[in-house]
Amino acid sequence: MSFSLYKKFQACEAEAMAELRGEWTPKRDLTPLLVGNYLHSYFEGPKAHQRFIDEHPEIISTRGASKGKLKKDFVVAEDMINALDGDPEFRRLYKGRKEMIVKGELNGVKWMGKLDCLRPDHGMILDLKTAVDLHKKFWLTDDGRWGNFIEARGYITQMAIYQELTNQRFGIRPNVVIVGVTKQSPPDKAAIPIDQYAMNYALDDVINTQERIQALRDGTEEPTRCEQCDYCRSTKHLEVVSLDSLID
Ligand SMILES: [Zn+2]
Repeated sequence: MSFSLYKKFQACEAEAMAELRGEWTPKRDLTPLLVGNYLHSYFEGPKAHQRFIDEHPEIISTRGASKGKLKKDFVVAEDMINALDGDPEFRRLYKGRKEMIVKGELNGVKWMGKLDCLRPDHGMILDLKTAVDLHKKFWLTDDGRWGNFIEARGYITQMAIYQELTNQRFGIRPNVVIVGVTKQSPPDKAAIPIDQYAMNYALDDVINTQERIQALRDGTEEPTRCEQCDYCRSTKHLEVVSLDSLID
């Protein structure tokens, strides 16, 4: 299992299963992913960054006055890179093995992850995350409260899994720090330590939830439709719903 697949099942079981069965291809804007990869490859090293640029000619504009230059989203990525790279505190912190694959098992289920940066003493995992605004609020439906981008995007869960996989590989449970950098001009940035209790709780939750995902994949349980995603909207028939059920 990977975190991205896990997240798909969390979002909508019916859509995730339809995609796994090859019955549904989600429409996705790949630009945010490419922007993230552009940033990550820079901090992996000059060779990795050049390889990314060579493999993605679509990041260069082919029209108008900006012909031959980076497209707008990647100019923003450059700003984010400069905001971090020009910061001595970041450069001091972000040292170690980059983009390392870690594999292991959670309660018998095979998992893998990729660590952005593992410090040489294995005492800390650093993970780069881009955000629109570090202080933006998101409604957390399950918790019935507002949360930040780290909570809203499930990053505590992702980091809990990665920490556990690192522990299985090296026998040490590193601290986790998320380095958030924003697409604002100029970019905002912060190093955000993730609380161990929150990660322990999140890991327990993964271990419980993955059983359901395995059962869905084995076909012993039926997926639930969220009735709100692209897949559910495109496959639904008119139904009577109560007024109170319209908002979370
Ligand atoms: Zn759905």
